[in-house]
Amino acid sequence: MTADADDQWAPRRAAMVSLIRAMGVRDQRVLSVMAALPRHRFVPGNLRDAAYEDGALPIGLGQTISQPYMVAAMTEALALTGTERVLEIGTGSGYQAAVLAGLAREVVTVERLPELADRARMRFAELGLNNITAHVADGTVGVPALAPFDAILVSAGAPAVPEPLAAQLAEGGRLVIPVGGPRVQTLYRYRKEDGEMKGEALFDCLFVPLVGRHGWPAG
Ligand code: SAH
Repeated sequence: MTADADDQWAPRRAAMVSLIRAMGVRDQRVLSVMAALPRHRFVPGNLRDAAYEDGALPIGLGQTISQPYMVAAMTEALALTGTERVLEIGTGSGYQAAVLAGLAREVVTVERLPELADRARMRFAELGLNNITAHVADGTVGVPALAPFDAILVSAGAPAVPEPLAAQLAEGGRLVIPVGGPRVQTLYRYRKEDGEMKGEALFDCLFVPLVGRHGWPAG
């Protein structure tokens, strides 16, 4: 697709970002990255018209691309400055990882479903996002070989904070994760201070389940 063909989406994208700002997200770096990132390239072709509405959309295999406001609020909560190595669990479409890639030095993203990881990798390559590495694995065990991480974002709903993720967070690092039951969760932000996880509840949310060894059982 040419840059010109992409430009037709710019007004809708600007309106989406204005709405996110009005909903309370104030980090200008987050808003700027989202104002430039073509979300329509992360949704199935038949849903492109809805790409800049503030809602989650199906991406196949029972999974969803998160609501833009949720992506913005979770990213803002990580307080990224540009120097961080970030771990994301739940690549899905790759949109959240692409937002993080514009705000941090390096992004490691993990997806359990190979088909989704393949599609996301193609999008990263097409968009020239070469500071993202996509892995296919159970993200609830983290990525011990690449730890520690300055920030960790979990894009699926967990029954509790997976212990390996807490262990792989650097001192001073931030972990943002939805924790709760299958039908509603609370978004938490943790900071590791003197080796201890200090948590703060942000707001209620709804994510697809985090399935894995330190998450929900499959099926
Ligand atoms: N961040 C994504 C949202 C994806 S929805 C986006 O921007 O589009 C959550 C994703 O988490 C799904 O793709 C699901 O397959 C994945 N997931 C669930 N449990 C997982 C696990 N244990 N490890 C890695 N990915 C997982």
